[in-house]
Amino acid sequence: MRRAIYPGSFDPVTFGHLDIIRRASKIVDELVVCVLNNNSKTPLFSVENRVKMLEEVVRDIPNVKVMSFEGLLVDFAKKIDAQIIVRGLRAVTDFEYELQMSQTNSILDDNIDTIFFTTSLEYAYLSSSTVREAAFYGADISRFVPESVVNQVYERLKDKGEKNE
Ligand code: ADP
Repeated sequence: MRRAIYPGSFDPVTFGHLDIIRRASKIVDELVVCVLNNNSKTPLFSVENRVKMLEEVVRDIPNVKVMSFEGLLVDFAKKIDAQIIVRGLRAVTDFEYELQMSQTNSILDDNIDTIFFTTSLEYAYLSSSTVREAAFYGADISRFVPESVVNQVYERLKDKGEKNE
């Protein structure tokens, strides 16, 4: 059983993430998308909300599961018996950080390999932070995130008293 883990913040999930999820799910038996519970970042959405949004958008892909985790990624990967870490690369700016992470992870556990998917050109510019910022200023974000996510982003920004209307 070839199981891969796709970790990230997914705050919120975008079409760029979804593209990586669809492509990665085709080359493994099971893909576990993992929402990172990271204390050092102040996310827009709670981990529970991010998991729910992801579950909704991957419902039609049978071999994809969504979970959340805290702590070291390699420990979690080992726990769920995943041998592969999936990450996406958009631009050169992602490269240095991703290379460092994958090298650190392979030193921590050399049974786990990281594979990278290069972004589809149409999503190369897209990041969760761009989506949050565009929504904050009232832009239409339906080109960036799945339909079920769009209103949740506006609502959440409004709840936080941050929406600029
Ligand atoms: P993190 O905080 O771990 O970087 P993100 O949710 O921002 O979490 O990203 C998770 C992964 O998805 C990263 O590997 C990132 O490079 C990748 N990714 C994000 N947006 C895109 C995109 N538009 N195209 C391809 N990969 C992407």
